[in-house]
Amino acid sequence: MPVAVASARIQAGWAHLVTIDETYAIVCLMIEDDAVPIDDASGIAAAARGWFEANWDPDLTLGEWWDRLAESGYGFPTWPSDRYGLGLDRHDLPLVNAARRAVGALGPPAGIAPSLAGPTLLAHGTAEQQDRFLPGIVHGEVWCQLFSEPGSGSDLASLQTRAVRDGDQWIVNGQKVWTSGAHIARYGILIARTDPSVPKHRGLTYFVIDMDQRGIEVRPIREITGRAIFNEVFLTDAVVPVENTIDAVGAGWGVALTTLANERTMLGAGSFGSSGSSMSITKPDLGARVGDLVRDTDSMTATPSGGVGALLRALVEQYGRGDDPLIRQEYATIHSLLEIARYTDLRSKAAVERGGRPGPEVSVGKLAASHLLRTLRETMYRVCGADATLWGDDAPLGGRMHDIGLSSYLISIGGGTDQIQRNIIGERVLGLPGEPRVDKDVAFHDLLVGTQRPLSG
Ligand SMILES: Cc1cc2nc3c(=O)[nH]c(=O)nc-3n(C[C@H](O)[C@H](O)[C@H](O)COP(=O)(O)OP(=O)(O)OC[C@H]3O[C@@H](n4cnc5c(N)ncnc54)[C@H](O)[C@@H]3O)c2cc1C
Repeated sequence: MPVAVASARIQAGWAHLVTIDETYAIVCLMIEDDAVPIDDASGIAAAARGWFEANWDPDLTLGEWWDRLAESGYGFPTWPSDRYGLGLDRHDLPLVNAARRAVGALGPPAGIAPSLAGPTLLAHGTAEQQDRFLPGIVHGEVWCQLFSEPGSGSDLASLQTRAVRDGDQWIVNGQKVWTSGAHIARYGILIARTDPSVPKHRGLTYFVIDMDQRGIEVRPIREITGRAIFNEVFLTDAVVPVENTIDAVGAGWGVALTTLANERTMLGAGSFGSSGSSMSITKPDLGARVGDLVRDTDSMTATPSGGVGALLRALVEQYGRGDDPLIRQEYATIHSLLEIARYTDLRSKAAVERGGRPGPEVSVGKLAASHLLRTLRETMYRVCGADATLWGDDAPLGGRMHDIGLSSYLISIGGGTDQIQRNIIGERVLGLPGEPRVDKDVAFHDLLVGTQRPLSG
């Protein structure tokens, strides 16, 4: 369905930006979908509005509300209709989100489980695996992503964690790092090396691992903000049943690319937060009254609408900087960046429709998010001056300016650094010569790069 952009009014949500302990993704900006008038020839908006009006009840528990979203398909409307969705086109998602927000309803679960694991299982998992894992995901289970290792971040394919088949199970040994939410995760999506005798990209396999087992030790890493959202994860003879192998043995790199593309889409400036919930890394309290959680989110946004535009405007007014030409210019820059990000996101969505998988456009979106966040941080600091360094309830935004500043680096690193996104854009969008890859055809156990030690086959 064509998206008719008749208005440039942008309201970018702030909720994720100010709830920094919940996920590293939350430093991204959310463009409120209902800011954009959309052609609703098929009546999707009306149907969604009707459903939310009939079903939203702030007195439900969070668990009951997420049950309703899951069973109706309105939680993840772009998923297949026999898999907790409605089979809607991504272009129609804003219609559902707008209908939800119109009644003030809380969104579905968010974070790694529904944004990365769910789409990966839908693309690569068997029907049995989807039957087994998707119910937990749509009902708020927390998952983590066991990809990065001390010597393998940007060069992820050089990872060393080994999985060795032993009868009906895989035995996993190694170390992961920067694993957001591992301390509360029920399952992890894991890539491990199953064949070191072939080149690095070809010897990897993708698994779902149960985090609740003796062979897994999770150690928190304290951040500059004082929080510990990510962890080191040590796997010592950890066990994965063979039925948790996602796709073929040795096909893990292709599966991981699906996860990574979804991650960049999630983190991209144009699409983040479409699910609307910010409860992904703290373990959701399924017994809590859902209406109270909406109120909590509102109070964290510091503005009723939760929009970046509204937030900046409120700050500018509070500090009497509305006539400052420099601030006005920066305000216009941020508005333009948000618009560009939104168009890039629409291009990315169109590419998904054509090709089935997010393409290099997602790198542009992620890079834009990174730039946008830094620009926003600088502007807010300029408006607040030294007040931005204050911490505590009586500081601007309840002290969150400080938080935003300290956390603004996250988006430039997590999900692939800015430099890596530029490499992707250079090679795959601009057609520039690729980086020399001398290790491409070399058996992994013959490689000596980074912190790797030679492995025996
Ligand atoms: C907040 C946060 C949360 C995270 N959560 C998770 C998680 O849940 N699960 C997970 O698996 N990982 C997670 N990560 C890890 C993240 O994916 C890695 O940090 C990221 O991929 C970069 O890897 P690295 O830290 O090893 O840096 P390196 O790869 O060592 O890079 C160091 C520097 O070298 C540059 N560089 C490296 N290679 C190139 C190149 N080829 N060309 C140009 N420059 C290059 C990089 O841009 C960077 O500036 C998280 C990271 C952050 C910051």
